[in-house]
Parts: sequence; C-alpha cells; structure tokens
Amino acid sequence: MNYQGIVYRPPSEAGSLIVQVTIGCSQNGCTFCSMYKDKNFHIRNIDEILTDFKEARELYKNISKIFLADGDALICKADMLIKILDFIKEYFPECKQISCYASAKSILLKSEEELKTLKDKGLKMVYLGLESGSDKILKRVKKGVTSKEMIEAANKIHNAGIMLSVTAISGLGGYELWEEHAVETGKTLSKMNPQYIGLLTLMIEPGVPLENEIKKGTFKVMDPYDILKETKLLIENLNCDNAVFRANHASNYVNLKGTLNKDKKELINKLNAALEGKEYIKEEYMRGL
Ligand code: SF4
Repeated sequence: MNYQGIVYRPPSEAGSLIVQVTIGCSQNGCTFCSMYKDKNFHIRNIDEILTDFKEARELYKNISKIFLADGDALICKADMLIKILDFIKEYFPECKQISCYASAKSILLKSEEELKTLKDKGLKMVYLGLESGSDKILKRVKKGVTSKEMIEAANKIHNAGIMLSVTAISGLGGYELWEEHAVETGKTLSKMNPQYIGLLTLMIEPGVPLENEIKKGTFKVMDPYDILKETKLLIENLNCDNAVFRANHASNYVNLKGTLNKDKKELINKLNAALEGKEYIKEEYMRGL
C-alpha cells in the first residue's frame, strides 16, 4: 500500500480499508484547516490506485468498508470513479459500504445521472464539511462556497440516493459572529437534512492562517462556556428529523449523542447541566483533532 503523507478519515471509518484516490484537498484554502497544507492536490493515476487495491486484497481476507481518500475524492471524473467502484465490486464482493469526502463543488460538478450511477455502483455515503451556515463566515474562512450551494449539493446527493454526513465547527465565527454562526448553521443543516450531523469544535493548529488573525487580534477564540452556549443555540435551530447527531469528537468540550429531533431536549438539557457546572467539561489539554 502506497500512502502519501498523513491520511485523514472520518471517525466512523476507523475500521475501513483506506485507499488514496486523490492526494490532498482540491480546495486547500480554508483558513482554519491544516489537514492537507503539505500536499499539492492531484488525482492519482488509476493504475496506482488499482495496484493498492490489489495489494490490500492479498493482505486482508474480509473488508466490509472502504473509504476513498484524500480530501475530496468525488472531484475525480465520474468515469474514473466508476472504474474504481467496478474494481472494488469485483475484488471485494463482501464490501458493504464505500464512502468518501466530497465538497459542494465536486457534487455540483456532477450531473444527477452521474451521481445516481455512482450510487448504483456502490458509493453509499459522502462526508461533506459545511463548517458554518453563515455566508459571512464561509467567506471569511475562505471555504469557497456559499450556504446556498451547500444546500443544492445536499439535495443532489439526496436525489441520487447517496447517504449524507455533514460536519460543522463550533466556534468558527469567534465572539464577533457566534450568534449568527449558531442560528445560520442550525438553519442550513436543517435545509440540508443529512442522515448524520457531526459537530466539531475549533482547534487552532500551528501554522494555519487563522492563527495570524488571532495574533493580530482580529479573531478571538471562544472559551468553553461560550462554545456550549453557541452549541445550545445551534441545536435549538436544528430541525432534522431522524438525523443522527454527534458532538463526541476529541475536540468537543462536552460529548453529545442523540437522534434528532426526538432527543433535542435531552441534548439541550445536557448542555444546560454543563453550563451550570453539573456535567463534565473536557479540560483543554485533553482535546485533540
Ligand atoms: S476544511 Fe476541507 S475543504 Fe477546507 S482545506 Fe480543509 S480539507 Fe480542504
């Protein structure tokens, strides 16, 4: 297996076979993200990718899940992805789930028909980083898309029958825009209506452009209590029936798990308890990405 650089995957793909289809992220400009800054984005040669799959077949007897890395595998042309999915079907007939990261851009560049074909060929789920539902914040962090495009992309994924998992980042608006971040992210997620919602909390990795804004004083990182207040407001603005909600990432101050909308009250109660000092809040040194 030929891995290049650090390979990232969603927490739920911990047991998956991971093969890099792209190297890096096609966007690679977000001011808070350090994930692929050391990589020049490119799509790998198909023969190299298939060689990795062949090697994995020799190494592992049973592969139930496959994750196509890196940052935005869906940016590859549909023809190439179809070749990969057909290959997986032939070599890993036992595989039950194939998934990858996607971006609003990579989804919107595909036709509905192409997305449906990818679904029929085995692409079961895509992970999409919304980060914030506020256009002001999306612009500030240089995400490169608007909330409207995120919603359009989500609708295309739903129409193709592919499952959608969306993440947002608590604290991304800082003190200046925390209310807008909470309300607009709640509203946008509700319109995107994903099957899974993951909420992370902002962590500043050394060298990210946002670090300079902090040094200049133009961005102030929120403290844990204010993050929890923001999360509460975000959840109050969520209306996603049957979506699995998780804020149990290593970066989160309080672990939250539930199914929307039925567990909304319970999630808010847990946040209230934490705000009143009756629930464990993770120490800063225990947080990680
Ligand atoms: S947040 Fe996502 S889209 Fe932005 S640079 Fe990082 S991996 Fe790429």
